[in-house]
Amino acid sequence: MGKVKKEDILDILKGYDKENITIATLGSHTSLHILEGAKEEGFKTAIVCEKGREVPYKRFDVADEYIMVDNFRDIVDEEVQEKLKSMNAIVVPHGSFVAYAGLDRVEDDFVVPMFGNRDILRWEAERDLERQLLTEGNVRIPYKYSDPSEIDRAVMVKFPGARGGRGYFVASSTEEFNQKIEAMKSRGWLEDEDIAQAHIEEYVAGCNYCIHYFYSALNDEVELMGMDSRYESSIDGFVRMPAKDQLDISLSPSYVVTGNHPAVIRESLLPQVFDIGDKLVESAKKLVKPGMNGPFCMQTLVNDDLEVICFEISARTDGGTNTFMGGSPYSYLKYNKPMSMGRRVAVEIKTAIKEGKLDKIIT
Ligand code: AMP
Repeated sequence: MGKVKKEDILDILKGYDKENITIATLGSHTSLHILEGAKEEGFKTAIVCEKGREVPYKRFDVADEYIMVDNFRDIVDEEVQEKLKSMNAIVVPHGSFVAYAGLDRVEDDFVVPMFGNRDILRWEAERDLERQLLTEGNVRIPYKYSDPSEIDRAVMVKFPGARGGRGYFVASSTEEFNQKIEAMKSRGWLEDEDIAQAHIEEYVAGCNYCIHYFYSALNDEVELMGMDSRYESSIDGFVRMPAKDQLDISLSPSYVVTGNHPAVIRESLLPQVFDIGDKLVESAKKLVKPGMNGPFCMQTLVNDDLEVICFEISARTDGGTNTFMGGSPYSYLKYNKPMSMGRRVAVEIKTAIKEGKLDKIIT
């Protein structure tokens, strides 16, 4: 449990001018639609931006205020925190915010009101905790091997931390596992200490759907906001090569996310989609009180038995939400107007301010 207490955050919030809230985030990942969505809902916006990375924010003009820093991780510096608080800022976390600021510092040192449940960020970042959330909710996940010697079919091998799929590989025997580990080490993609932490799971030969939900703590409702699938290097380039050539060259593909495609899923699978979203929200309520709050994502693979199998979750806006900055087919069904994930967050904050319930959605 982190040192930043909800009471301290609520104290800060008491001093805020609620008519003059700024929505702020770190300039990376999903900040474009977080800020654009906030503007659409009438908020002021601020960006904490690393020097040299301001181009997209200036060109798209999404931020009213810039807090320039030498390094992304400086967002947790005292001075930056003071500036944010002087703007009555509510910070919307995203994947890069957590990765750059560091989970420990977000939990222990970042005393600025944040949207969502601060405590759940650790649960998505650590594989064992993440699995616990899924198994508690009875969500179908890939079978996990506890030792490389048990490998008896195609497996996917993963390593700790959000490294964008770098160093992941597929193997179908213990020997192949060992060979590939050596190859990854020689490319400098793996260190010895990573290897002990290799996570080995069943390879699901299925189609990828990353499902973006919004859990409204104000309405106690799980909303389906959009879906994407990943565009990953080098695997997606590799599979464009004729099979014969793939066999000839000994390239070992990696899964580095370089972009996303918008996706929709077969309509008959939507009951499963809502079911797993509801289940995750229920298990988060039990395990990480008060539970999920705001955007979350379930990364799934759908096999040819039409099972939706979840291999990973994000408990904050996921990068794939960038596929629907102007709304998705699903957010259109729900809202009948352009509704990005960023805008949905802003709507929730606006509603909470109006109803005097900010304490329910801020930590
Ligand atoms: P991740 O970093 O967990 O998002 O995984 C990166 C990519 O690896 C995913 O987008 C999938 O293409 C692939 N992947 C992950 N887990 C599995 C699995 N169990 N079976 C097959 N492919 C997987």
